[in-house]
Amino acid sequence: MAPTLRSKLPNVGTTIFTVMSQLAHDHHALNLAQGFPNFAPSEQLLEYAAEAMHNGMNQYAPMTGLKPLRERIADKHNRLYGASYNADTDVTVTPGGTAALFAAIAAVVQQGDEVLIFEPCYDSYIPTIELCGGRAVSSALQFPAYSVDWDDVRSKLSPRTRLIILNTPHNPSGRVWKQEDMLTLQELTRDTGILILSDEVYEHVIFDGAPHQSVARYPELAARSFVVASFGKTFHVTGWKVGYCLAPAPLMAEFRKVHQFMTFCTNTPAQYAFSRMLENTALYENLGAFYQRKRDTFRSLLQGSRFELLPCEGSYFQLVRYDKITKEQDTTLAVRLTKETGVASIPVSVFYTQHTDNHVLRLCFAKTDDTLEQAAKRLCTL
Ligand code: PMP
Repeated sequence: MAPTLRSKLPNVGTTIFTVMSQLAHDHHALNLAQGFPNFAPSEQLLEYAAEAMHNGMNQYAPMTGLKPLRERIADKHNRLYGASYNADTDVTVTPGGTAALFAAIAAVVQQGDEVLIFEPCYDSYIPTIELCGGRAVSSALQFPAYSVDWDDVRSKLSPRTRLIILNTPHNPSGRVWKQEDMLTLQELTRDTGILILSDEVYEHVIFDGAPHQSVARYPELAARSFVVASFGKTFHVTGWKVGYCLAPAPLMAEFRKVHQFMTFCTNTPAQYAFSRMLENTALYENLGAFYQRKRDTFRSLLQGSRFELLPCEGSYFQLVRYDKITKEQDTTLAVRLTKETGVASIPVSVFYTQHTDNHVLRLCFAKTDDTLEQAAKRLCTL
């Protein structure tokens, strides 16, 4: 008799990113769906990685990450946000931001705990919470600004709330949290045992001079927070899957207990390469300007279309509302656009657990100018 298997994640299927990328491939469409750059990373980064491999850095790295890399990570966050992270006790390098999110959630969420999340949200949060026996409690961001409804948040916190997960700059909306948001979060969590997981993978992809509101800027929040970052986003190498987590020592000690049995350590030559890249602070400090130019180019190319462009304050995603073009469901339109117009996008309803279709698609502008021009030309025909 075949063994019976009871799924631990009965509601999870193939992710929309895989589905849309496959559809884009099958129909030779321009892939503005999945969030990854279609241009090359810097030669310097590749040279550093090759240098590490040729110099024998091919075996396991320390469980917590290469020390020079951890030092530069701590220095960066301490310098930019006035934090006081210790490279030895408060920083761990992970195989991507996703692994860091998983380890942080698994380290603190226990059976029956509630985790407050903001929807629309990145797709890994809820399945990870559920695998750990927790329950996701969702607060919807207010359409179309995608601002936090703090009264709703207040009403949803309970003695069972163990963790709040936030993400700024935000995927998929491009919304950036403001100082008032952070101060409200600080006030709401004061004198509680609630922990915070702050997904800051787009920290350097932020526009128009806005400061990145890291929880690390606020000592009270930093004391109860895990911060997650990703080198894939910062250095245009999403396929290298290297990220990291910062947290005060007691939280980081628990994080490391999980991390060491998920993967133990992270790719050694890549860590060496990133530690060298962080020596040049201009590389990440100029990233906002680089993507701001792409955002502006893409938005101006779409001015001639019938899409309504929602604001984009950070991340590399532009949301477009298509009410004036069609009343189709966003999932239907995304498939049709890929097949008939040759542009793949992500329907924003997939980032919600409850059916919420505001007729909005997400387009990734981390693409060459040529790709953006061709995509915009096709979208302007609708
Ligand atoms: N969080 C958010 C909001 C993201 O958009 C992504 C990448 N798409 C990640 C985390 C994961 O980063 P990584 O690719 O380094 O695992």
